[in-house]
Amino acid sequence: MNIAVIGGGAVGVTVAFELTKQNVDVTVYERGSIGDGSASSGRAAGVCYDAYAGPIDATVGKQALTRFREWSRAGRIEFTSRPYVWLARAGDAQRAAAIREQVPRMQEHGRNVSVVSVDELADRYPALRVDDIAVAAIAENAGYTDPAAYTRSIAAAADQAGATIYTETPATLRSETVIETSTGRESFDAVLVAAGAHTKRVLADADVQIPLKPYRVQALTTASTAIDVPMLFDATGGYYLRPHEGGLLVGDGTEPIERDPDDWSRSADGWFIEAVDSYTETAIGRTLDTSNAWAGLCTATPDGDPLLGERRPGLFVAAGWQGHGFMRSPAIGERIAAQLVGGDGIDAFDPTRFEGTESFEIVEGMDIE
Ligand SMILES: Cc1cc2nc3c(=O)[nH]c(=O)nc-3n(C[C@H](O)[C@H](O)[C@H](O)COP(=O)(O)OP(=O)(O)OC[C@H]3O[C@@H](n4cnc5c(N)ncnc54)[C@H](O)[C@@H]3O)c2cc1C
Repeated sequence: MNIAVIGGGAVGVTVAFELTKQNVDVTVYERGSIGDGSASSGRAAGVCYDAYAGPIDATVGKQALTRFREWSRAGRIEFTSRPYVWLARAGDAQRAAAIREQVPRMQEHGRNVSVVSVDELADRYPALRVDDIAVAAIAENAGYTDPAAYTRSIAAAADQAGATIYTETPATLRSETVIETSTGRESFDAVLVAAGAHTKRVLADADVQIPLKPYRVQALTTASTAIDVPMLFDATGGYYLRPHEGGLLVGDGTEPIERDPDDWSRSADGWFIEAVDSYTETAIGRTLDTSNAWAGLCTATPDGDPLLGERRPGLFVAAGWQGHGFMRSPAIGERIAAQLVGGDGIDAFDPTRFEGTESFEIVEGMDIE
């Protein structure tokens, strides 16, 4: 079998690697280089957890963490286990209730999560400011890794296993299973478009519509200060953070506005850097010097679930992660690789559930209202 993947981000290279295990002749087309900063996978924060209330997401999250740890044990990537805490602050009754409601549902799916008291949180992580926390929950099965390094490592493994990976090679879809590059046209048994924020545009060349909107998010890293924190999502403040080289990586700055994937600002905005300063006061009681700040694109769908599966006969899509694509990529890659060779897909993520022309608002992926 002869399968092409358009897009060499975390998802595309994972699919390619998985396909080599099935003895598929797989070709990846990447318009830039692998793991560089032009793709979302080169700009992501690398926060990974399995704290999902939906059964499919919980399974996918768990499986992905298992794979990250296997790769780490094999020396392919560095994965640092670190609990993930999410919380609502005083006065935010709606999100506090949402956290209390989510935790038992996650536990039903076997996830190691619990509501944690403010005293226990303060004992475990004295650097956190806890005085105005209303409700906090903790997921023990979580950690972080460098998404660009992951992407390069899996691409190298796919290459070693026999995949053909073309970089600096933009691909155009001429029909469901025909791809054109600067060197000519090639026909495949199946094509997967995993082109991140460009996925809708790539499919449109073959007259295939999907409802997908790229939107801009931001992140920054701080100078090293030897601070010990869990990974954290502050649902009230709207920020997440994780340890990063002795300092912090802090993110969000979401703008729920559809962006042209070829025309957007890669630099972080001044307002975002200032807002993070004020947020770190709330989270850890002090500000930290910014060492690097940037923006990147995420993709939204009408229902917040991915578009994963066969869109037309022979033409598959994998996109629409609402800011959670990296942490799910090892498991999502396995699932779509199995579907590409004839296995079942995930019904809830089937891209044919939409016409493709639906109008919808972008809803931030991490919010828990
Ligand atoms: C600041 C930031 C922080 C984030 N933090 C997290 C996080 O902590 N955890 C998490 O799970 N997710 C996070 N995300 C989201 C995550 O980055 C994405 O969900 C994930 O990287 C998507 O991977 P992908 O392979 O689908 O897409 P991408 O990484 O965007 O890869 C798509 C690839 O397709 C290529 N391409 C496009 N068009 C063509 C074409 N015509 N021909 C050939 N190649 C083409 C692109 O060059 C690109 O390399 C974050 C995103 C940002 C921006």
